Amino acid sequence: MNVIFIAPPASGKGTQSSLLEEKYNYKHLSTGDLLRKEIAKKTELGIEVDKIISKGELVSDEIITKLLKNELENMKHQKFILDGYPRNINQAITLNRLFTELNCKNYVTIYLRLEEEMAMARALGRIVCSHCEASYNKYFQNLMPKENGICDKCHSKLVSRVDDTEESFKIRFQTYLSSTAPLIDYYKERNKLHVVDASQSHEEIFKNIEDILASAAVDN
Ligand code: AMP
Repeated sequence: MNVIFIAPPASGKGTQSSLLEEKYNYKHLSTGDLLRKEIAKKTELGIEVDKIISKGELVSDEIITKLLKNELENMKHQKFILDGYPRNINQAITLNRLFTELNCKNYVTIYLRLEEEMAMARALGRIVCSHCEASYNKYFQNLMPKENGICDKCHSKLVSRVDDTEESFKIRFQTYLSSTAPLIDYYKERNKLHVVDASQSHEEIFKNIEDILASAAVDN
């Protein structure tokens, strides 16, 4: 059962994806991570998207779909999580087409519901690994790394994301409301939507997600 996350920024989809990866061997496909890798490598594309991401705006559908398609083709025979795609209705329509082409039938869409205030608190405290993208939080006890500023998994340096400033977060949240939130109704109308309260602890959220995946597997 493949998973698509629909969620506001800093709602914990990266953390939940890592947990699914570790426990169930899912492949985590984050379009944000793919773009950040291009930026770190200073490729032509990376230079082009750097400013857009820093401002909190969305990258064009053409660029992001091309990146996604390459990755999806490589992982079509594995269970995967889509984190950060689709980000608008147009991308959801494109994804349906890609799934048909790749013969991917089984998926659930999980909406991580979180209020803006809590999402902002999480974004401002978020620190991510500069090497493996693992995510921590300097303000939430249960999300802190064991050693200050160092990744538990690969021992690389933890850094703040350029778009986790208050100004950029506010734009990202508005972009989420106008472009991404309409996907909630889109998937609800297609009986594909499951809602999880993302204000819970990450352990509780994970339990909810496991329950959704277990019942979806039975239904299939
Ligand atoms: P994320 O890591 O998912 O929070 O994404 C970080 C940033 O990458 C977003 O604010 C966008 O600028 C860009 N991005 C990621 N996924 C997409 C997408 N599907 N469509 C457009 N832009 C995206």
